[in-house]
Amino acid sequence: MKTYAYGFPRIGKNREYKRLIEAFWKGKLDNESLISGINRLQQEIIEKYGNHVDYFPIGEMTLYDNMLDTALMLGLYRAENLNDYFSLCRGKDALEMTKWFNTNYHYLVPGLDSVKDKGFRLAWNKPLEYWNKYKRGIPYMIGPFTFLKLSKGLDRSDFRERFLSLASIYGEIAANFNRVHIDEPAFVMELSDDEVTWIGEAYGDIGTKAKVQLFTYYDEVDFLERLCELPLDAVGLDFVHGNGRMKEKIISDGFPDRITLIAGVIDGRNVWKADLGRVSGLLEQLSGRVKNLAISNAAPLYHLPVTVKSEEGNLEEQILSKLSFAEEKLAEIEELSGTTGGADKGKKEVDRPDAGVSLTDSDFIRSVSYGERRIIQDKRLKLPVFPSTTIGSYPQTAEVRKKRADFKRGRISGDEYFEYIRLKIRDVIKLQEELGFDILVHGEFERSDMVEFFAEKLNGIATTGMGWIISYGTRCYRPPIIYGYVSRKQDMTVREISYAQSLTEKPVKGMLTGPVTILAWSFIRDDVPVSKVAYQIAQALRDEVRALEAAGIKLIQIDEPAFRERAPIKRRDWEKYFDWAVKAFNLTANAKAETQIHTHMCYSEFGEIIEYIKKMDFDVISIEATRSGGDIVESFEGAGFDRQIGLGVWDIHSPAVPEMEDMLQIVKRALKVIPKENFWINPDCGLKTRGWDETIASLKKLVELVKYLREKLI
Ligand code: GLN
Ligand code: ZN
Repeated sequence: MKTYAYGFPRIGKNREYKRLIEAFWKGKLDNESLISGINRLQQEIIEKYGNHVDYFPIGEMTLYDNMLDTALMLGLYRAENLNDYFSLCRGKDALEMTKWFNTNYHYLVPGLDSVKDKGFRLAWNKPLEYWNKYKRGIPYMIGPFTFLKLSKGLDRSDFRERFLSLASIYGEIAANFNRVHIDEPAFVMELSDDEVTWIGEAYGDIGTKAKVQLFTYYDEVDFLERLCELPLDAVGLDFVHGNGRMKEKIISDGFPDRITLIAGVIDGRNVWKADLGRVSGLLEQLSGRVKNLAISNAAPLYHLPVTVKSEEGNLEEQILSKLSFAEEKLAEIEELSGTTGGADKGKKEVDRPDAGVSLTDSDFIRSVSYGERRIIQDKRLKLPVFPSTTIGSYPQTAEVRKKRADFKRGRISGDEYFEYIRLKIRDVIKLQEELGFDILVHGEFERSDMVEFFAEKLNGIATTGMGWIISYGTRCYRPPIIYGYVSRKQDMTVREISYAQSLTEKPVKGMLTGPVTILAWSFIRDDVPVSKVAYQIAQALRDEVRALEAAGIKLIQIDEPAFRERAPIKRRDWEKYFDWAVKAFNLTANAKAETQIHTHMCYSEFGEIIEYIKKMDFDVISIEATRSGGDIVESFEGAGFDRQIGLGVWDIHSPAVPEMEDMLQIVKRALKVIPKENFWINPDCGLKTRGWDETIASLKKLVELVKYLREKLI
C-alpha cells in the first residue's frame, strides 16, 4: 500500500523556527539568514517525509501562518517585503486571530471586505515558487472552500459567486502541475445543501486542471457520496476522529475505483503509539471495499511535538515507550504499509489504571440553591455594589521567569524561590490594597502556564521537556500528557493563597484552572472515555477546593477559558460534550454554600452556549466585554440568567490604557439588560502578558470607574 503524510511540524526539534523568526524581529538576523534558516527547516522536513512515505506535500512551510499566506496568494493584502509581511501578523495592523477548528492552533483571519470591489487575483504563486525550488512533493494549498468559510467580512449572499471566482484562480494554479495537494478541513463542518452543491461546481472545475489529492480531517464528511462524484484523484478521510461513520459507510456502500482513498488511520492529534494490529485490521476491512487504498495520518502532524527522542532522560521509560510524536508517526505509517493484518508490534501494554471513586448525582450539584447561597455569601463578604477584582495573574516579568528557571535547574533552592514568590505576593497585595480593589488575588507568580502548573502537581499527568507545539505564529506551548489515573497528591495552591490572605483583611480569591481547560490543553488518554478523565481531574481539583476552604479562603475562581473551544465541530455532537463538560465543572465547584465560586471564560460566543453555561453551578462569571462594547451581556439577558457577571471592561490584549468614557459606555450598555446588583467590574483576562506601567495606570482607571459608578448609580 502507498503511504502519504502531511502537516509535519515546522517548529524544528529545538524550536529553530521560533529562534530564527524572533531573532529577525529583534533585528539580530538579516533577511537572507532568516530565509536560509527557514529553507533548512523545509529541507529537513522533506528528508523526513522522504525517508518514510511515498507522497507528501511541498509548501506547507510558512513564516507565520498558512491562512495569511493564502490571503497573500490571492491578493488580499500587499506584502512587498518581510517587514510588510510581519506587520500583518503582529502589531497594530495585524489581522485578527482565532482558533483553527477545535484545535489549539490559531490562524490569522483574512478580511474579505476589500474583495467586494477588487475581487481575487493570483498575486503570489506560492505553490509554484516552492515547487520550482525543491522539485519534490505535491504542491500544497489550503482549499478555496475552507479559506472562504474561515474568512470574515463576506456577505452570505455573495458566497457562491466569490467561491467560484476563487475556484478559477485555484484552477489556474493547479494547471501548473500534474498533481496538487488541497486541504479542505471545512468539509467536515455541518454544511448546507447549497454549500455542497457549490463545492461540486468549484471542484468540477479545479479537478480538470490537475490531479487533485483532497484532504479532509478533524471529523467526518457528511456528504461523502457527493464528494466521490467529483473529479478528484484522491480523497483523504479521517478514520480516527469522529464517530466511526466513515468506515461504516464505506464498508456498506463501497468507494469508487477511480479515486484513491487516503485513509487517515494514524492519529495526528494524540501522542500514543498506534495499535498497529488493530489499524491493519481496519485497513484490511477497507481494502475489501476499496480498490485504491493508501495510508496516512489523520489530521496534520503539527498538533504533535517533533520527536519522542527529545524526551529521553526526561520522561519515565514506562511512559516514553508508549509515545509516538510526529517523526514516530511517520515511521508507523511506513510500518503499516508492510503489514497485512495480525501484527501487534507497538501495541500498548496498558498499565494505566482508571479506577476512581464512584460518583453519584449529588456530587455534580451544590446542595444549596444559588438564591440561598447569594444571601449567605452577601452576609459573609459584605461587598459594596459593583465589587472590583482582577482575574488572577499580574505581569510576569523577565525577572520572575528567570527565578523560576533558576529554581527548576537547581541554581537556587526551593526556599529561596518561595521567598521570592512571597515577596512578589506581598507587593501585589499591597498594590491592590492601595488601588482599592475589593477582592484581591495573589498574582500567580509561581505559575508558568495555567495548565502546566497543575499538570506538574497532579498524579497521572506528565510534563515534557521539549514537547513544544505551535499555538500561533512563533508562540509555542508544551501540552502535558495525561497518561494515568489523575489524582491530587498534595496541596497545589494553598500555600501561596493562604500567604496572600494572611497579609490582608480583604478576601483573597483562590485560583484554579478548571478540569475542562486542563483536559483541553493536554494530550489525553485514548484508552478510557474522555468524560472519565474529566471527572478524575475534577475530583482532584475538588479536593483542592476543600483544602482552600479549610484554610479559610472565601472565594474560589475556577478558570475555564477552553470550555467553548473544546466543543466538537458538529453541533449534533454538542449535547454529549457539554453534558460531561458541565458535570466536570460542577464536580469541582461543589463547594460549601458560603464559598463563592467564580468562573472565568474570556471571549466566547456566549449566545450559542448560554444554555450550557446556565447549567454550570458557579456564583459569578467574569467575561470579556470590551470587543462587543458590552453587547455580549445580551446573551445572558435573553436566557434568564440570574447570577452575577464580572464585566471585563479593559481589553488586556492591548497595551493601551482604557479610557474612562469607553469603560462607562460598556457598563451602561450592560446595565440596560442586567440589574446593577449583579455586576462586578474587572479586566477581561489575566494581566500576565502586560507590563507593570500600563497595568498600574489601567487598574487606577478601573477603580476610578467603580467609584464613579457607586456615586452616580446607586
Ligand atoms: N487566572 C488566569 C490568569 O489570570 C486566567 C487566564 C485565562 O483565562 N486564559 O492569567
Ligand atoms: Zn481569560
